Amino acid sequence: MIAWQTPLVDGVYVVAILVFILGLRSMSSPATARRGIMLAGVAMFIAVAVSVLLPGESNFALIALGVFVGGLAGWYWARVVQMTAMPQMVAIFNGMGGGAAGAIAAVELLVSLGNPVTAGLSLAGAVIGSVSIAGSIIAFLKLQGWLRSKPIVFPGQQPVNLAVLVIGVAFGGYAAYSVQAFWLLPFFLLMILFGFLFALPIGGADMPVVISLFNAFTGIAVALDGFALVNGPLGDAGYALVVAGTLVGAAGSLLTLLMAKAMNRSVGNVLFGAFGATEETGTTVQGSMRSIDASDAAVEMAYANEVIIVPGYGMAVAQAQQKVKELADLLEAKGVTVKYAIHPVAGRMPGHMNVLLAEAGISYDKLFDRDEINSEFPSADVALVIGANDVVNPAAHRPGSPLFGMPILDVDQAHNVIVIKRGQGKGFAGIENDLFYKDNTRMLYGDAQAAVGQIVAALKKS
Ligand code: NDP
Repeated sequence: MIAWQTPLVDGVYVVAILVFILGLRSMSSPATARRGIMLAGVAMFIAVAVSVLLPGESNFALIALGVFVGGLAGWYWARVVQMTAMPQMVAIFNGMGGGAAGAIAAVELLVSLGNPVTAGLSLAGAVIGSVSIAGSIIAFLKLQGWLRSKPIVFPGQQPVNLAVLVIGVAFGGYAAYSVQAFWLLPFFLLMILFGFLFALPIGGADMPVVISLFNAFTGIAVALDGFALVNGPLGDAGYALVVAGTLVGAAGSLLTLLMAKAMNRSVGNVLFGAFGATEETGTTVQGSMRSIDASDAAVEMAYANEVIIVPGYGMAVAQAQQKVKELADLLEAKGVTVKYAIHPVAGRMPGHMNVLLAEAGISYDKLFDRDEINSEFPSADVALVIGANDVVNPAAHRPGSPLFGMPILDVDQAHNVIVIKRGQGKGFAGIENDLFYKDNTRMLYGDAQAAVGQIVAALKKS
């Protein structure tokens, strides 16, 4: 690079970094998240553009083709994806990031074998990137329903996994030490096999936590690639990778920890506990379930002072959010205060409920998280639970229950509870819900969209 170009390029990288950080900051609130995504996109564009345009770079046609094919596929898929299919789309897009990091590491390895620093960094990036793409593929298949969603377990699984990892890394280490690129082949094959094996015992509904973890892995792999590039013969383009990778790695790690905390489980339990492989047995809940029809539910809510709506996974599956908004508008027109109680892991991905309710045009200031709303249930006339199960299950207070200790929404404290679900199906944790048997609970059976629609129709008539 000519002397004046270095500070210019560095300056542009600094701008990209600042825009990345601003973008991440904006993503911390639903109200500004959209802007955050745009800012992060702009930052990525700047970083990629300056890296591609660095003096000495070549292969523009190939780069343009890659950007075009990848950009078009991403744009198309993101436009047509159903809201319920969002977790698997995130999984596979994230896996692509891991794959790209693994591919960069492969190229870097080929030119740096024998150099302990760059080969070591590249090997680490290759391990993490390969595990991330392979694991993300399993996550995608499970979430898409193309692979058994329940944990896939077999005897001796953990020792087998460990052996595959150790042997694979040994091949990579030998390739770097002996400067023989051939040994990179078994190294990559075993790392990909390890990624598959690692994700198989994790249940489908735990996949969002795993996706977030793989997202962190991808970030770390990208950052390691960046360090390797900066220290190796391929040069300066690594700075953008270091920054973007570190941000993604840190954000993904934090999100993983937050989600595990909200489920009161350790990340280790999510990864190695095969949660959901067996169902709770031996616990029978006393009492019986009582049902209510839509017109009685409508009357109960129309005469309430305050109704708290608690959405869950079933609302997402039924795409009931528009009907929910319609219901809330009608109740508010009758002078009823309507609030929404959002559990951090309601649904199947972080922020699932917030995204759906925002899509329906429900304003953020009506959404309250667990800590804010739990003290309000005792004074609420009606808690309307729509397709939520585990996040409202008082079994979380019962020692010995798989849910024990999970922070839940205390809907059973409301004067009346109406639960909309299709039948007697259990929640993700596969255990009975004590709430459904309580004296103040009534079940409104049906698909969430249809059931809320019936309440809306009844309210319109009244
Ligand atoms: P659950 O999966 O516990 O329950 C959903 C309920 O919705 C089911 O009981 C089901 O009952 C009902 N349902 C399904 N389809 C419909 C429909 N079309 N209409 C009406 N009801 C329907 O969901 P929650 O949101 O309460 O809890 C989320 C669970 O997922 C928690 O255990 C959480 O830990 C876990 N999880 C969440 C993650 C996240 O990021 N959000 C990540 C990982 C795990 P029925 O079949 O009778 O209709």
